[in-house]
Amino acid sequence: MRIAVVGAGIGGLAAAAGLQRAGAQVAVFERAAEVRAAGSGLSIFANGLRALEFLGLGEQFAAVTDKRVESFTAGQRRPDGRWIAEVPSDSVGELRIVDRADLHRILLNALDEGTVRTSAEVTSAGDDGTLALRSASDPSMHPDAELTEYFDLIVGADGLHSRVRDSVQLGIGSRYSGYSCWRGITDRPVDLAGAAGETVGRGLRFGIAPLKDGRVYWFAVANMAQNATFADEKSAVRDLFARWHAPIAELIASTRADRIQRTPIADLSTPLSSYVSGRVVLLGDAAHAMTPNLGQGGGQALEDAATLTALLAPSVDRTQVDHSQVDRALECAHIDRALERYDGLRRKRSQAIAKRSRTLGALFQLESPTLAGIRNAILSAVPSRLIAFQAASVQKWAPPKL
Ligand SMILES: Cc1cc2nc3c(=O)[nH]c(=O)nc-3n(C[C@H](O)[C@H](O)[C@H](O)COP(=O)(O)OP(=O)(O)OC[C@H]3O[C@@H](n4cnc5c(N)ncnc54)[C@H](O)[C@@H]3O)c2cc1C
Repeated sequence: MRIAVVGAGIGGLAAAAGLQRAGAQVAVFERAAEVRAAGSGLSIFANGLRALEFLGLGEQFAAVTDKRVESFTAGQRRPDGRWIAEVPSDSVGELRIVDRADLHRILLNALDEGTVRTSAEVTSAGDDGTLALRSASDPSMHPDAELTEYFDLIVGADGLHSRVRDSVQLGIGSRYSGYSCWRGITDRPVDLAGAAGETVGRGLRFGIAPLKDGRVYWFAVANMAQNATFADEKSAVRDLFARWHAPIAELIASTRADRIQRTPIADLSTPLSSYVSGRVVLLGDAAHAMTPNLGQGGGQALEDAATLTALLAPSVDRTQVDHSQVDRALECAHIDRALERYDGLRRKRSQAIAKRSRTLGALFQLESPTLAGIRNAILSAVPSRLIAFQAASVQKWAPPKL
């Protein structure tokens, strides 16, 4: 089976790794000149860990992360450092914090050499498996010339503003949440005194997550216009959180200015009515871009990749066995059924998580002192059993059984 994966993000690389391992001929098309992780750190919960294990990458991931974060005191704090709600460590379940660069390296190393074609921008995808692209790295081609290739399946893993999704008219577009997020990883270890989690103010939030080597992944969220600009991003985030509890100022100070990035937070304006159109299937942010309030966008992309691999593996096998004797129509019917099942398994779950994530974001970014006070009172009253139940409903997941 010839499969094109559009986009070398977490979702595209994970799907490519799984499908290639299952025996498919996979080509990944990435428009950037180089495959690189966007952002800095990433939280991966039990569901993402199960997906990585299914894809055969559990050991490699375990080598660059550790359990330490699970023993930290977590929950929500006030800007002066007093806890609003401490979440018992056993209610969060499994959690790992990874440097995105490490995860990208693991995913990339899982692929055969030459699988990823960089500087290859897909301009459209047809539901018959036609892919049109511009390849800036091919010296024999004029940079504006378009190339057409045909595949048995196109996996659209090209993120929030997916060209593949637009080509097959599956989606409407994105919407800005009203807040943007700075992210960074400190250049050196910083002592967190055993406490991590989020600190919530009014229209402002700061998150702290320790990496295995003692460096710290942090994020700072602030309400602002989507097109807000700052002369100096590091000074802007430092000034906004200057009076917040330790070690927030130290975390920002110990991060190189050119490693601090700000991202306007957006999700899909309308949930898609399908993740599949003919021989095009969407995955990751292309299918269900969500706000990061539950730390689940990457985890959901990994679940998508594992699910697609599990469902397509038998078809890949069949096409390999003896192509000449297999009834082509039957083969197509198997693939169609696998894609239908993928849509059924993935759409409801990922869209429900996206919705919950957006609601949580609205709650955490409240600006009104009265409403923020009510929120804090509610947070401190929620029993830990309920927190554990809520967390488990998102994080409990296993790949499909055939
Ligand atoms: C602030 C923030 C914090 C987050 N924190 C977490 C977290 O803690 N845990 C978690 O699980 N998730 C988190 N997420 C979400 C997570 O980052 C995303 O869900 C995940 O990276 C999506 O991966 P993807 O592969 O679907 O898309 P992307 O990472 O967007 O990758 C898409 C790729 O496609 C390429 N591309 C785009 N268009 C084309 C084209 N036309 N042709 C060829 N290539 C193309 C792009 O260059 C890119 O490489 C966070 C997101 C944000 C913004």
